[in-house]
Amino acid sequence: MPGSIPEEARKFALQNSVQFNGKANEKAVAGKVIAAFKGTPVTPQEINLVVHEVVSEVNSLSLEQQRAELTRLAPELLVKEKKERDFSLPPLPAAEKGKVVTRFPPEPNGYLHIGHAKAAIIDSEYARMYDGKFILRFDDTNPENAQVEFYQAQKEDLQWLGITWNEEYNTSDHLPVHYQLARQLIIQGDAYVCTCSSEVIRDSRFKGIACACRSRGKESLELFEGLQNGTVKNAILRLKADMSSANTAMRDPTLFRVIESPHPLTGTKYRLWPTYDFAGAVEDSISGVTHPFRTKEYELRDEVYFYILDKLKLRKPHLIEFARLSIEGMPVSKRKIKPLIEQGLVSGYDDVRLPTLRGLRHRGITPEAIRLFVLSQGTSKVESVVDFSLVEAANRKYLDPRVKRYFFVPQPVKLTVIGAPLKTKRIRLHPTAAMGEREVKVSSTFYIPKEDVARFKVGDTIRLKDLFNVRVTHIDNEVNGSYAGEKLLADTAKIQWTSDQFIRMTVIVPGPIFVNDTFNAESLRTVEGFAEQAVGGIPPGETVQFERFGFVRIESQKPTLTGVLTHN
Ligand code: ATP
Ligand code: MG
Repeated sequence: MPGSIPEEARKFALQNSVQFNGKANEKAVAGKVIAAFKGTPVTPQEINLVVHEVVSEVNSLSLEQQRAELTRLAPELLVKEKKERDFSLPPLPAAEKGKVVTRFPPEPNGYLHIGHAKAAIIDSEYARMYDGKFILRFDDTNPENAQVEFYQAQKEDLQWLGITWNEEYNTSDHLPVHYQLARQLIIQGDAYVCTCSSEVIRDSRFKGIACACRSRGKESLELFEGLQNGTVKNAILRLKADMSSANTAMRDPTLFRVIESPHPLTGTKYRLWPTYDFAGAVEDSISGVTHPFRTKEYELRDEVYFYILDKLKLRKPHLIEFARLSIEGMPVSKRKIKPLIEQGLVSGYDDVRLPTLRGLRHRGITPEAIRLFVLSQGTSKVESVVDFSLVEAANRKYLDPRVKRYFFVPQPVKLTVIGAPLKTKRIRLHPTAAMGEREVKVSSTFYIPKEDVARFKVGDTIRLKDLFNVRVTHIDNEVNGSYAGEKLLADTAKIQWTSDQFIRMTVIVPGPIFVNDTFNAESLRTVEGFAEQAVGGIPPGETVQFERFGFVRIESQKPTLTGVLTHN
């Protein structure tokens, strides 16, 4: 049973308006209210009259006020609309609302990149879709790789992406449990300590033949204790799986190995560490994960994953694979990024050419765009190399209605206009959004882009954008023209300009780091030009649009005005 007409109208008007940036649409709201009163004696005419008033009241509130009121009156509408809009991933198999648990398991050995963002967004999005739980797990079982600063840095990067988690822990917290489970496998005869050299192991795996260690029996238990306390060296714990399996991953994979380096969190307390095969399977199961995702490269190891859980009689999650994200010309892998930094080929993890989240942020790519891009790519298993222009398109779509616009003139050419009215012109910072204006003092001297000058000839009429028209009278190293009125003319090129009050600016233009798999020495270019004076007031870190040039994130104001071209 609906409430009164004004009550219902108010709820739906608030809902519609929150969904569409603070402005409710009368027709859409009326439709919902009419539907709510279907089967009652209330007529659509009555409803339309009420809705008309209510919508104009609601639209006079700020978006924040609207959201606050809707949260108070009908929180269910707020939540519901949001979910319906984002529900873009396909349903999970065997998933129940409230019972889905996902996890993102980064190794704290470097900064996160857009490939990790893909995994983390899909994992957390599924938990959200099903009102489930999302776990952040640091898979820190290789002390040689893990570094203390990366735990924090990776969390910061996830927070920047807008990802929140319900639970957080480190796999290294669970080593005693892992040891206990390993002992269980040894006692059952499902694991053994192998003392063969790594060459022998590799060779016997290749040939599919077992070594003598396989039939060692209970003595493995003592050796396993020795591995833990350091009295036994040069041995590993192996799963007794299937040495003749066609799947080489099943040929008695390693479960534990000795790594003597101190661990960033546990120091020298442990020296025996589980492998990815063991830790991954065990952790997913014991932490309650129902739908773990991993990249397709691990597909052959799925059999190992389930075999381990089977032998341990542990619950088996619904393991799901998706394609690893690769981007043309970009190193979407910590393993490929690290050497670039070590060799000094890039300036650091936040180099604007890198697909690290820090690099992308530095360049002006927004978390919203990354999310849009990732969700549009979906969860397919088909491996492909995508073009960075897809990320750019998502970012452009996000930024275009939201950032201020200014004029920047690359390779400026001087233009003198005879008869130009001296004036102070107020120009909007955005053609449609309410972002205010900037004031520009103009005289007879202007600067316009060389590229445009190259295209026009004497006698042409051009328009200085948002200002007036100019008839070109002379073209040389400089251009002369005469004032030709303010009336907008059809088919006239609108050119960005600066007055004689400009600021010199350098724009850094990032390009692909790799071309044909080799480092591209030209991957960082610069463009010099003049920015209009108002650009001198933009705080570093803000992204703006330079009309007809591109989106630029302001890098520094001092000692020189510098920006990074996000994309055009
Ligand atoms: P890298 O090569 O960058 O070191 P990794 O897989 O070793 O990659 P982890 O920190 O172990 O890095 O990855 C954490 C999670 O992120 C894993 O679930 C992994 O599958 C996922 N992931 C890593 N790189 C990508 C990528 N390029 N595309 C999609 N998912 C990725
Ligand atoms: Mg890894």
